[in-house]
Amino acid sequence: MTATLASALDAAYDKAAAGERLSVEDAVLLLGKGDLLTLGSLAKAARERHNPGNVVTYIVDRNVNYTNVCVTYCSFCAFYRPPGHEEGYVQTFEQVAARLEELRAQDGRQVLLQGGHHPDLPIGWYEGMLRSIKARFPEINIHGFSPPEITHFAEIWKLPVAEIVARFKAAGLRSIPGGGGEILVDRVRKIIAPMKATSDEWLAVMGEAHRQGLTSSATMMYGHVETLAERVEHMDRIRRQQDETKGFTAFICWSYQNPNTNLLRKVKDPAGAHDYLRTVAVARLFLDNVRHVQSSWVTQGPKIGQLALEFGCDDMGGTMMEENVVSAAGTTFQLPPDEMERTIRDAGYEPRRRTTFYEVLPPVTVPGARP
Ligand code: SF4
Repeated sequence: MTATLASALDAAYDKAAAGERLSVEDAVLLLGKGDLLTLGSLAKAARERHNPGNVVTYIVDRNVNYTNVCVTYCSFCAFYRPPGHEEGYVQTFEQVAARLEELRAQDGRQVLLQGGHHPDLPIGWYEGMLRSIKARFPEINIHGFSPPEITHFAEIWKLPVAEIVARFKAAGLRSIPGGGGEILVDRVRKIIAPMKATSDEWLAVMGEAHRQGLTSSATMMYGHVETLAERVEHMDRIRRQQDETKGFTAFICWSYQNPNTNLLRKVKDPAGAHDYLRTVAVARLFLDNVRHVQSSWVTQGPKIGQLALEFGCDDMGGTMMEENVVSAAGTTFQLPPDEMERTIRDAGYEPRRRTTFYEVLPPVTVPGARP
């Protein structure tokens, strides 16, 4: 390492240790050249500033993928089926309710509603689904419809995004998942998902949702065709949006999952655990206006999920009773509540359940969990 590089790194470490806002250049330097364990200890100190104490939260939730019919054909996706395909489905409201009864049995607090970009379902069908969930399961927060889904709806229904958000909110939607963020750089999006919402469209949906009082999460799927500078550009777009509209509750990143997808041909060397820990640590340091950073055990596995708690994460995300999109790509980790509790305790932290809005719930005795 040259003296100039060493001194630039020391300056970036000092800024991070002092809790000063990092520049894009600082973050690119730390991501590319920072020492892994130094990044971990700086990120853990930042976690302590944002969320002091020994509690690690999680939410009991489930995914409901109400349809897998999609006309967007993302190259990394193994979940969707094109219209007319024999394996395509749209769930009835009764099928959705049956899944939520299972979630209620676990005292679950969130349903993540996510579907393919169906070409024909009308807005009334979505409003009906939201109303039926809200009426039957008032304790379960409806976290649904990623920005690309809402952009797709705006196109097919020829309605402004603001009207769709307002109508969904009136029907029961309270928060929006950050799905489809991938990398918020259009050069990258044109390669991996050319028909999906642009970076500006993704951010515009989030901004509108925040202005109407909904919260959302911010995500990043990295480790495919992006550069390190583009990863930081993504984080910078999130940080600038958050400065303006303040509705992101958490940041979650995960590496692209290779098997079973068309993008496989383009990615020879998928990102591993070392890259994940560096990326999540730099995100914790750079995103000084986003309170929570989730550990992504679904894609990295529970052991790396535990390690991420030493690299700035304060939350383990959801138990994900049903997950079809990542598992369709070949990654099938599951953590029911008792295992989630054990995983957090074994890492040295106190597990506590939370709501979508990061309200910490009273301690519970989880059947099968070690005290
Ligand atoms: S990631 Fe979503 S939008 Fe893209 S093909 Fe899969 S289901 Fe469709």
